[in-house]
Amino acid sequence: KPPLKVSIIGSGNWGCTAGILVAENCAEKPKLFKEEVLMWVHEEEVEGRKLTEIMNTDHENVKYLPGVKLPKNIVAESDLATACKGADVLIFVVPHQFLEGLLPTIKENMAKNAIAISLIKGIDFDESGIVLVSDVIRKGLGIEVSALMGANVASEIADGDFAEATIGGPAGHARVLQEVFHRPKFHVTTVRDSDAVELCGALKNIVALGAGFCDGLGYGNNAKAAIIRIGLLEIGRFIELRSGEFPTEILLQSCGAADLITTCYGGRNRKCAEAFVAGSKNWEEIEADLLGGQKLQGTLTCAEVFKVLAAEFPKGNADDHFPLFCNIHRIAFEGAKPETIFDGLSKSEKML
Ligand code: NAD
Ligand code: 13P
Ligand code: CA
Repeated sequence: KPPLKVSIIGSGNWGCTAGILVAENCAEKPKLFKEEVLMWVHEEEVEGRKLTEIMNTDHENVKYLPGVKLPKNIVAESDLATACKGADVLIFVVPHQFLEGLLPTIKENMAKNAIAISLIKGIDFDESGIVLVSDVIRKGLGIEVSALMGANVASEIADGDFAEATIGGPAGHARVLQEVFHRPKFHVTTVRDSDAVELCGALKNIVALGAGFCDGLGYGNNAKAAIIRIGLLEIGRFIELRSGEFPTEILLQSCGAADLITTCYGGRNRKCAEAFVAGSKNWEEIEADLLGGQKLQGTLTCAEVFKVLAAEFPKGNADDHFPLFCNIHRIAFEGAKPETIFDGLSKSEKML
């Protein structure tokens, strides 16, 4: 029953940026939402002060979103139980490696009929195959989980530039969640197939590594366009492996082609992969050097997806269907030369 209490779990570069959109809506729609938005912050010291204290007095996340003012109705909270106490709407936006341990405390403290949405771009794998981040949340909390994915490089949205996003989820939830996120310059469309939306967001980070390899090699726009096109095809095929249907319509949403394009030009995965081509550093060193504490998600996703492909194609012929994903994995983790990125890519193409 409105007004609903909204809590945000995560406070990084995208967490704070999405938090601004959410907090503006909560302030403007008192019939629907409580004004105060609690944001769970993984506490750390920044220049001798607690990050939560900085956020609540200076209204800025000086480490993960420097130079951008946060609305005063965002309240930073380092105690997870307090941050999600009685929450009706839970927004998940932590790097996916930090998610699972948070769920028992959230389950104990959230409102009984809470709804949840994941903004996390990642994937897992276990004995039974693909595990979506939203599946991890569903299992941990026992509630329905939607996904918001789109062409959303956070720094541009924080600057006030226009962007779009796609929410996938059950219609009743998607309508409420659209009210939470849609802004005059952040247009949100809704679709039912949340798995496909979420997989687009996770998988494009693998392709972005390929785009970064191209940039590191000094290749031009045609080469990157080829990576983007083939990447889109393989994202669609990977979703088809799971659902039995090639998701053409979803790929045409912001979560599909648009996110892939923006990430391949302006994302952190691209940037780190470009540096990887220079050759002297491993992924952890590159992440630490270039991202200032922000987290790389594409390498983790690439490793998980490769395990899925190995299980799906036990004869070792994943290359016949996913040559780009396989090439990117070989370059990122098996010492293959970046120049091999285009090897064998046309072999999966069918005559239309
Ligand atoms: P980020 O990359 O800025 O990550 C840093 C965050 O991780 C900080 O909030 C930090 O406090 C937290 N953290 C560090 N160690 C932790 C620990 N041990 N436990 C818990 N938290 C810890 O975060 P982000 O950019 O907000 O990314 C969150 C998700 O949003 C990712 O899945 C990412 O792919 C996705 N995303 C990011 C963008 C973007 O442009 N930044 C856009 C769309 C989606
Ligand atoms: P990166 O994590 O590569 O910066 O991608 C950001 C993103 O998801 C844009 O939509
Ligand atoms: Ca701008």
